[in-house]
Amino acid sequence: MKFFVLAEAFERIEKASARLDMTGFLSELFKKTPIEDIEPVVFLCQGQLAPSHKGLDIGMGEKFVEDAIAKVSGYSNREIEQLYKQKGDLGLVGEEFCGKKKQSALFSAELTVEKVFQNLLKIAKSEGAGSQDSKIRLLAELLNSAKPIEAKFIIRIPLGNLRLGIGDPTIMDAFAINLFDEAQKDKKLVEKIENCLKEKKPEKRKEEFERKLKMLMREKIEEKYNVHSDLGSIAKKLKRNGLKGLDEIEITIGVPIRPTLAERLPSAEEIIEKLGTCIVESKYDGFRLGIHKKGSEVTIFSRRSENMTNMFPEIVEAVKKQVKAKDAIFEGEALAVNEQTGEYLPFQVTIQRKRKYDIKEKAKEFPLKLFVFDVLFENGKNLMPLPLKERRKILEAMIKPGDTIELTKSIVTGSAKELEKFFNESVENGLEGIIAKDLNAKYIAGARKFAWIKLKRSYKGELSDAIDVVIIGFFKGKGMRTELGLGALLTAVYDGKKDVFRSIAKIGTGMSEEKIVELEKMLSKIKTKNKLARIDSELEADVWVEPKFVIEAVADEITKSPVHTAGKKELGDGLALRFPRMISIRTDKKPEEATTVMEIIKMFEQQKHVKIEGET
Ligand code: AMP
Repeated sequence: MKFFVLAEAFERIEKASARLDMTGFLSELFKKTPIEDIEPVVFLCQGQLAPSHKGLDIGMGEKFVEDAIAKVSGYSNREIEQLYKQKGDLGLVGEEFCGKKKQSALFSAELTVEKVFQNLLKIAKSEGAGSQDSKIRLLAELLNSAKPIEAKFIIRIPLGNLRLGIGDPTIMDAFAINLFDEAQKDKKLVEKIENCLKEKKPEKRKEEFERKLKMLMREKIEEKYNVHSDLGSIAKKLKRNGLKGLDEIEITIGVPIRPTLAERLPSAEEIIEKLGTCIVESKYDGFRLGIHKKGSEVTIFSRRSENMTNMFPEIVEAVKKQVKAKDAIFEGEALAVNEQTGEYLPFQVTIQRKRKYDIKEKAKEFPLKLFVFDVLFENGKNLMPLPLKERRKILEAMIKPGDTIELTKSIVTGSAKELEKFFNESVENGLEGIIAKDLNAKYIAGARKFAWIKLKRSYKGELSDAIDVVIIGFFKGKGMRTELGLGALLTAVYDGKKDVFRSIAKIGTGMSEEKIVELEKMLSKIKTKNKLARIDSELEADVWVEPKFVIEAVADEITKSPVHTAGKKELGDGLALRFPRMISIRTDKKPEEATTVMEIIKMFEQQKHVKIEGET
């Protein structure tokens, strides 16, 4: 397929103002794409060259991209830098300069998806001496043949910022649309849906039918994506065999399974009311790791499915020594522990282990312990459908005693008092709180379904829990902050049903001057010309950005708000955070893993409840 077809689709998506249009454009694009190009096209939509777990970093420094533009266009590096300063996006610079080259191209051929993808792959894979020159040459070769809009997107990819805000759920929605015709011919499916239609009038009934059938397709795709998070390979199977292609997808050691997420409730009583007798585990504040063992080969994934194997050599070694199973997929939380005192170290210390260099030194300075809590696969058997109580037994039997890996500390109880006591002990030991888990629940990949409920230590007098919000834009600084270029962040929570980010707070406190400078730099790299289709905000930010970064924030309370859009559809009024403060940047969370609109509504209602009780 011509690369221009993809570039045109990207251009439409960039300009789309409604999310529905965005999925429509994606679905058209996937329909047009021939099977041999579908994997590359899906990866490029994600701004990647392979699924995240392959850890293939395209990374090219800005200076080298500038060199490639200069080489092809005939403009000097100074001219390029000047325009970059003005536009804030090298993609736009490339679009402009490649459209009015000072020199004519030596050899130019129409670009195909395959050619672009192959050159980008070569860029990603070239390392060692002379690799910078060859990267520049490979990029220049593409730019030499690129039309202006092609140049814009080709440049953005190796910089790691496509600035389109296409999320995995958006891609899955587009797949679901494309399955619709086939599903409509499946008598069994049609019957199943027709049996649960509520509308009576023919037109409304037809609409309801279409909506439900699409939803069913979407659920089927997501079910597979949750145990095999590689949208490229899913797309290929769908292209080849349609709906049946989904049956071919199964758990594979080395391909991450999406983690279960925890709901929250404000008290021990409510947790016991919801779960009855449950297992209560300490909540450790570290990295959540998905560990895959195949014989002596160990792979470690973060909760965002990044490959972190090289960062934690002591865990790799411990898995080989302490895990009895030949093949297994299991989960745990790793954190730095003071070897002398056994004291748990704070997240700020553990996070230092997330690094590419000086791994051995840091491993010596801050060795990690891994507290395991679940097992999903053992010696060829999928354990996900088993109840947690059985999985936990298998996990206990699987781990040999040793220095690095142990099971999470836990109790089984049906008493709120005991739960509270265990919670207090955990907090006294420097941990975050507890997670209570339904003993009868199967492992629910990628979702919050009250199988796990967290209770965290509270920030006194404030909202009882920090929330994770996504940065969708920022306001330029005033007064003292003018020079820093950033005064406050515009943040949002995630509406998982509609796959959009709805605004909830302007955050301007909790950041040091250095943090502001860092944020400004980080955000300028993902700024967009206009508000992207997945952002819902009535406030106009000075600068819009692609929803990419999650930050942890605390606030005094949640209040109704005429200016924010979170909860507006559900409650009539929007909700906002009162006196929000930033705590940290959560690099371990994807934007789709931020706190959701529904959670905020629940927290708002719980807070009202507590207030009223307090007043009477
Ligand atoms: P949160 O990030 O606040 O939603 O809390 C859920 C996270 O707590 C999980 O994703 C894990 O990283 C972490 N965690 C810590 N201890 C446990 C545990 N015992 N069981 C499950 N998750 C845990």
